[in-house]
Amino acid sequence: MNRHHFTTPFSPQSMPAWRCPHCQDGTLTSIEESLTLSPTAATQELTEQIDCWLPEFEISRFFMKMKCVKCKDPVLCIGITKAVEEHDDEYGWVFSDALVPTYFEPYVPVIRIPSGCPESVSAEVLKASSLIWCSPSSSGNKIRVAVERLMDAQGVPNARDLHVRIKNFSTTHQDVVDKLLAIKCIGNIGSHSDNLELVDVLDAFELLEYCLDELYEGRSARLKALAASINTHKGPPPK
Ligand SMILES: [Zn+2]
Repeated sequence: MNRHHFTTPFSPQSMPAWRCPHCQDGTLTSIEESLTLSPTAATQELTEQIDCWLPEFEISRFFMKMKCVKCKDPVLCIGITKAVEEHDDEYGWVFSDALVPTYFEPYVPVIRIPSGCPESVSAEVLKASSLIWCSPSSSGNKIRVAVERLMDAQGVPNARDLHVRIKNFSTTHQDVVDKLLAIKCIGNIGSHSDNLELVDVLDAFELLEYCLDELYEGRSARLKALAASINTHKGPPPK
């Protein structure tokens, strides 16, 4: 997961390398001519009242089409603009409209889900991906549900609450338990308030990505065996 893909405003000429929701392999590119900007009512009133240009206070809503460079599947993005200062070789420091997404259709996957991950878990992770832009707290709640489904899939017996289930999981998977407890804490806040920010949910996604890689791809064990083989052979392992 690249956090900058989800926290940095973008422009049609400078897009984050979002993965295609359809093929999960190609990246998205903008269809620049489709960008439509509509100033908010407050911005229109401000423009009429004040006889000067105040770009830092002006907000527009935008709509833009994108497509996958590989499979060509279309993706629609809506959001708001944010004035940012950037350096122009001809005019020096100037304001420009950066784009801040609030929704994608279909949604952009936040993390890569291992192929062996059960459908019941991945379904909740995908729901969390769809909500991260417009409702970080709801997204955090869905990641918490994903951990509950993960405990089901791992055969951890039901207990009075998720905390106890995760603790019980520590007898066989100590390496991921602290990460799962941290995800649960973030998810609890998302379930009971609207106080989560996008960066908080990205923390939960990053921790969950680690846990899923460990549980369904055995990354640490695989890399440990690889290092041992290279060290034993003083070079690349036998093919
Ligand atoms: Zn694609």
